[in-house]
Amino acid sequence: MKSKADFRTLCVHAGSLVDEQHKGAISPLYPSTSYAFNDVEIGQYPRYFNTPNQRGLAEKIAALEGAEAGLIFSSGMAAVSTALLSHLKSGDHVIFQDDLYGGTRNFVKHEFPKFGIEFSFTKGTQIADFENEINKNTKGIYVETPSNPTLKIIDLKGVAALAKKAGVWTMIDNTFASPVNQNPIVQGIEIVIHSATKYLGGHSDISAGAVLGTKKAIETVFQSAKNLGGNLSEYTVWLLERSIKTLFLRVHAQNENAQGMAEFLVRQDWIEKVYYPGLHTHPDHHLAKKQMKGFGGMLSFDLAEGIDCKTFLTHLNLVKPTMSLAGIESTALSPRLTSHALLTEEERIAQGITPQMVRFSLGIEALEDLQEDLVNAIHYAR
Ligand SMILES: *Cc1c(COP(=O)(O)O)cnc(C)c1O
Repeated sequence: MKSKADFRTLCVHAGSLVDEQHKGAISPLYPSTSYAFNDVEIGQYPRYFNTPNQRGLAEKIAALEGAEAGLIFSSGMAAVSTALLSHLKSGDHVIFQDDLYGGTRNFVKHEFPKFGIEFSFTKGTQIADFENEINKNTKGIYVETPSNPTLKIIDLKGVAALAKKAGVWTMIDNTFASPVNQNPIVQGIEIVIHSATKYLGGHSDISAGAVLGTKKAIETVFQSAKNLGGNLSEYTVWLLERSIKTLFLRVHAQNENAQGMAEFLVRQDWIEKVYYPGLHTHPDHHLAKKQMKGFGGMLSFDLAEGIDCKTFLTHLNLVKPTMSLAGIESTALSPRLTSHALLTEEERIAQGITPQMVRFSLGIEALEDLQEDLVNAIHYAR
């Protein structure tokens, strides 16, 4: 497999295992938890993240991100928590962007104080906002772009340059963009994290995570990972590898649907505001165009005043009002009532989350059918 192969070819072939015995077309599945010792210094064992299927899948996702190495985890949060804890010790300080995935925010606020790890959240999403939080014991900067649910864009090259100047590491949660739309390592970010439960899995039936980076960074993550034990079952590893074969096709279709939906929504009188980096009116449209290969399948919108958000969501038929995102089926939720319910109203306002906001994850259905579904629900909610 040429490492410079096209992204679509990498999706199908990178990291595949060869069925030497029967010459089958797809990767064989090796569910063994016990292997004979061989010459390598560490034996093969699931919790050492080095069984054949785990290594193949890690190689595949690393190839998609242009990373040297990777590790596969049992959830996005296992990936987030292990990556962070492996790079921190008592007395260290980390900077987080303010609008952060809820689970990551809870992890940091709940666990870091127990380990004496200090943290601060930025007051905005500009480079100066990150610079303002740097102090003597700062060890790293952690970002998420596009952000959830307001689709703000962070300047990745700017963050990388700031981190280099300050001598700190950088991590990004690249879940929302997926490797189809954004490769942060190319922009100078060191460690890339994915909740593979989202686009990499893509069918709302897999819980998994991944951490990608240089061999050295991944070795550091591994030293904690084998102790924390967040490895993924071989069966799910195998299923995730299969899912990623169609990653480009799925996300490409989701990008197109999101762009089409965003352009449709801005023309509706029942819409107050649309948040989508692919719109010319998005404040960071030019930045998104520079650092992303596509604008993604996620968008948010504010319903016009007087339209009841809950009634709207409950009258959607095709679009499922569910918590998760990135599946081939379209889903929608109210961040205030669900994903960001644990924040205080003040925190939500600081992040730009309004009571009328709907977060929309575009699937691969026909755009016209999705539009019709929204228009139909509006009749009930007016
Ligand atoms: C879902 C999600 C996570 C957490 O992933 P799990 O697989 O649910 O543990 C982390 N970051 C982002 C941006 C997510 O959407």
